Amino acid sequence: MSPPARPSRETASPEAPPLEMLREIAARFGTPAYAYDAARVRLQVRRLRSALPEGTLLFYSLKANPSLALSALLARCGLGADVASAGELATALAAGFGPAAIFVSGPYKAPETLAHLRDHPRTLVSVDSAADLRALAAAGVPCRALLRLRPDFEPAALVAAGPASRFGISLDEVPGCRELAGDAALSLAGFHVFCGSQVLDAAAVARQLDGAAELCLRAAAAAGRAPEVLNLGGGFGIPYRPEEAELDLRPVGDALERVRACLHPARICLELGRYLVAPAGWYLTRVVGHQTHEGRPALVVDGGTHQRADLCCLNLRRGALSPLPLGSSADGAAPRDVLGCLSAPGDVLSEAALLPPLAVGEVLAYPNAGAYGLAASPFSFHGSVPPAEVLFDGGWVAEARPRLPAAAVLAGQALPIPPAREGLDEAGH
Ligand SMILES: *Cc1c(COP(=O)(O)O)cnc(C)c1O
Repeated sequence: MSPPARPSRETASPEAPPLEMLREIAARFGTPAYAYDAARVRLQVRRLRSALPEGTLLFYSLKANPSLALSALLARCGLGADVASAGELATALAAGFGPAAIFVSGPYKAPETLAHLRDHPRTLVSVDSAADLRALAAAGVPCRALLRLRPDFEPAALVAAGPASRFGISLDEVPGCRELAGDAALSLAGFHVFCGSQVLDAAAVARQLDGAAELCLRAAAAAGRAPEVLNLGGGFGIPYRPEEAELDLRPVGDALERVRACLHPARICLELGRYLVAPAGWYLTRVVGHQTHEGRPALVVDGGTHQRADLCCLNLRRGALSPLPLGSSADGAAPRDVLGCLSAPGDVLSEAALLPPLAVGEVLAYPNAGAYGLAASPFSFHGSVPPAEVLFDGGWVAEARPRLPAAAVLAGQALPIPPAREGLDEAGH
């Protein structure tokens, strides 16, 4: 089977899909499974570093994939971590990100997060609202605060966080926040702007960075002080559809160069999730049967949408890059649906994907599955255990989340039985 024809522009992946390794993983570790390509993560880091101005600080947003193995890989690549929950914070620390390289964000800081901040007063913390700032002050946490500003311009992101967003502080609240911070001896280190996720158009990314920088300048004027640190977000997208091209990082680098000159001497940070890990991920699922669906022939597989939240959130059922059959023959390719294993009508992984007829036992490899997959999914639906997760690097491969037996769904559950009621059976008779 040859992979789907690549459009002439540089699209999807300039690297050949690692079919040999994916076959080995399906055979050795079983399906369904997520396989993460360490070399591809490193390639994404190198692309960013070579295109962006020197000294730009990169944070990995663990929300995109909090896999310990991937997080540790990105820590070894020298990135910082953007964490938005106590669990992500615990993961980042276990992955080897130093406390000084961790950026704490999100609308709520849990007690465990506050306890960590008390011990590490140099940590950068994104403050989502005046109420969030008051909560930090009340907890007596001595952090370096970046006020998250709500964009007052229209973002270009597919998953947008613009003027109508629930996140961030509006410009007219900035002076009040500065006073609050001053009273609480919190240092106001700068600002944070995030406009949303999955922007593929370089000009749109550049416009968003310009907009974010300009908003930061207005906020600095309103606060009456020069910022030390500015997190300008990111939202860099990746191509999920055959007609989409890779994000061109050159104009993005040029925009950041301009922005950096305007904001000098503030340190510029970006926070990226999807761009770093999505192209490195493959979702492997095996054909277990055949059906028809909406008049088309359909394959039934051992995975499903309960493990692939990214497909549903971005509406990638139809028109996304087709999954690659890991078998050999491409003959007889026709539009086929791929149905998951759940007893739920919406469990459709692909509609009308161009696929050859596949026998039970053959494996499909979905590309671009490294971000917002497993961790964003309701994977325990239907009494399911999570799929295995595997990390590979060239010819080296190891399990990152071993496959669990079905009875593992019982782990962590107690079995409370209320005391018998006198003279009544359980049904109340
Ligand atoms: C989700 C999120 C990110 C990561 O977005 P990607 O598109 O995965 O890079 C970064 N910052 C904030 C505030 C987010 O909510």
